[in-house]
Amino acid sequence: MPNAQKPLTIIAPKTAVKGGKQNWNTRVFPTWCAGCGDWGVWAALKQALTNLGKKPEEVVIVYGVGCSGNMTSFVNTYAFHGLHGRALPVAEGIKLANNKLTVIVVAGDGDGYGIGVGHFIHALRRNFDLTYIVHNNAVYGLTTGQTSPTALKGFKSKSTPEGVIEEPVNPLALAIATGATFVSRSQAADIPHLAQTIEAGIKHNGFSLVDVFQHCATFNKVNTVQWYREHAYKLEKPFGPQEKTKAMGKALETGRYPVGVLYHEERPAYDDEVTELKKGPLVERDISNVDITPLFDEFR
Ligand code: SF4
Repeated sequence: MPNAQKPLTIIAPKTAVKGGKQNWNTRVFPTWCAGCGDWGVWAALKQALTNLGKKPEEVVIVYGVGCSGNMTSFVNTYAFHGLHGRALPVAEGIKLANNKLTVIVVAGDGDGYGIGVGHFIHALRRNFDLTYIVHNNAVYGLTTGQTSPTALKGFKSKSTPEGVIEEPVNPLALAIATGATFVSRSQAADIPHLAQTIEAGIKHNGFSLVDVFQHCATFNKVNTVQWYREHAYKLEKPFGPQEKTKAMGKALETGRYPVGVLYHEERPAYDDEVTELKKGPLVERDISNVDITPLFDEFR
């Protein structure tokens, strides 16, 4: 069963190299249910950071609320665990303060595509240089099994005992329609593919969506590992800006779901276009001679 969490925590990393390789583990062992897809996302994320040669102090991960958010304590980087649905604006603020950092956001489908969907749309159109990993298991796991915004029509849970009536949110189609520059999907049960997808997302300069088919072993008995195996197929290569309608067509497919990088476009990231950031990260500025008294006076 999922454990309760303590949001609004900030964690600083410890440098630890094991066997010549960066050790991304903390002393806290994950509390996820046995068989949960979160284990696969955890492994793939650490693999991607290793492959990219990142150091813990170069990385900040902002977590939403949900079972995925429990990862705050399990990855050895700077971490921020905020309010439900509010991970993206926090990550945008971090990127503006220090655009040298690799900023990753980890959320669930309830957090990211439900309560936080407004922030999702605006982060996409701004094209902030963030990697957004969404554990999409079509159910609210932490609160013990209610229907989420990506649950398929007919899905029965304690909040929809007669089955879901409405259509699910389609995150890939939403992302393409809102001006996304990197849209992808992978599976928690395919760790090498997921690690490769996260790595490509982090390398991308701009907002990268990595939607993850993540099985919830406890509260979703429909979208199991076997179900994802039978309903997903791998894409060979991403569509580019000239083929946006084709990418949208793939995103809208039902019954069989594309996995891989679906859409890729090179466009300046938001943080590339902010004039003030062209002089370097804000946190590196010398502000010892700056008089902020006039600013305070304005609010007296
Ligand atoms: Fe357990 Fe489901 Fe939460 Fe995973 S997502 S920890 S299986 S309740």
